[in-house]
Amino acid sequence: MFPAEFDYERAESVSEALEALERYADADVEILAGGHSLVPAMKTEGREPDVVVDLDVPALDAVNALDDRTVLGALTTYATIADSGAVRSTVPLVAEAASEVGDLQIRNRGTIGGNLAAAHPGADLPAAVLASDATILLRNRDGKREVPATDFFRGDGETAVEPGELLAGVRVPHADGGGFAYAKKTHPATGYAMVGVAAVVETDGGGDGDADRDAGGEGTVSSARVAATGAVDRAVRLPSVEDALVGDPLDSAPIDAAASEARADIDPERLRADASASAEFRGELLEAYVARALETAADRAAGDTPTA
Ligand SMILES: Cc1cc2nc3c(=O)[nH]c(=O)nc-3n(C[C@H](O)[C@H](O)[C@H](O)COP(=O)(O)OP(=O)(O)OC[C@H]3O[C@@H](n4cnc5c(N)ncnc54)[C@H](O)[C@@H]3O)c2cc1C
Repeated sequence: MFPAEFDYERAESVSEALEALERYADADVEILAGGHSLVPAMKTEGREPDVVVDLDVPALDAVNALDDRTVLGALTTYATIADSGAVRSTVPLVAEAASEVGDLQIRNRGTIGGNLAAAHPGADLPAAVLASDATILLRNRDGKREVPATDFFRGDGETAVEPGELLAGVRVPHADGGGFAYAKKTHPATGYAMVGVAAVVETDGGGDGDADRDAGGEGTVSSARVAATGAVDRAVRLPSVEDALVGDPLDSAPIDAAASEARADIDPERLRADASASAEFRGELLEAYVARALETAADRAAGDTPTA
């Protein structure tokens, strides 16, 4: 199916993009990044923007790994993120979530900026940036604006991006030891997450494999960030799970106890339902995938599982 007619603007720098957004301030504008949400929406879902601003900005396709944080430009593709040695060693959770997106064609074209801006309720990257305590970097004609990931996602397709603003990148702090994991139950038809759980668990002290972990010898959890996608209309942190983990060893019994809190922060009325999963089943998936993510994070914290 062909999309409705629209005006097309190519922007080869951030300023050109912001100028175009200002010029068309009174029009219905979409930004074209990887096009893997926008183009299907224009062809089959009745999305009819007046103008499409095509972001062709090499500077936004960049990985900048610094001492304590890694900055990912908005146009960085999932494939680049998943394959980048710098991302895998500094913010491996983001690399793992990117490697779980759709199929190879989608990973080669889709961008982290488009993924976060599109804010699909089952998208993978929102959970990863929430559990990573990342900051979303926005640009507008007045300068820059930074929004913590926890304040960024407002609902299905709704974010903190204002009209005239561009998502320029994401700043992800490096975790301080411990383990991480992204565990995803893939929707059989769409590839999105029916439920996906991202976890970053920091521990005091170090472990020495299975025996040490079984003995609780890897130290106690000093901080935990756990986020879910797919369960409700946006990606959300699960503070009850996080609170249950802190102060205990990252061990089977505390993990089970924390996973049993997975539904405590979610109003059952808000759980998504579709042809593949009822709301009740999604609640069960959520609990199971929280446990899976935490078990993998625990294994990695104990040094049992390769991280790259
Ligand atoms: C078959 C299929 C399977 C998929 N499976 C998955 C999956 O498993 N997991 C997953 O997470 N996603 C999945 N996706 C979605 C895919 O990841 C998209 O690439 C992503 O949602 C949007 O990224 P994009 O770069 O393609 O953005 P586009 O489609 O170009 O843009 C999407 C939206 O974001 C806005 N936008 C884009 N960039 C910016 C920016 N820099 N600043 C402000 N606004 C911006 C646009 O205006 C538009 O509204 C799938 C898509 C398809 C078609």
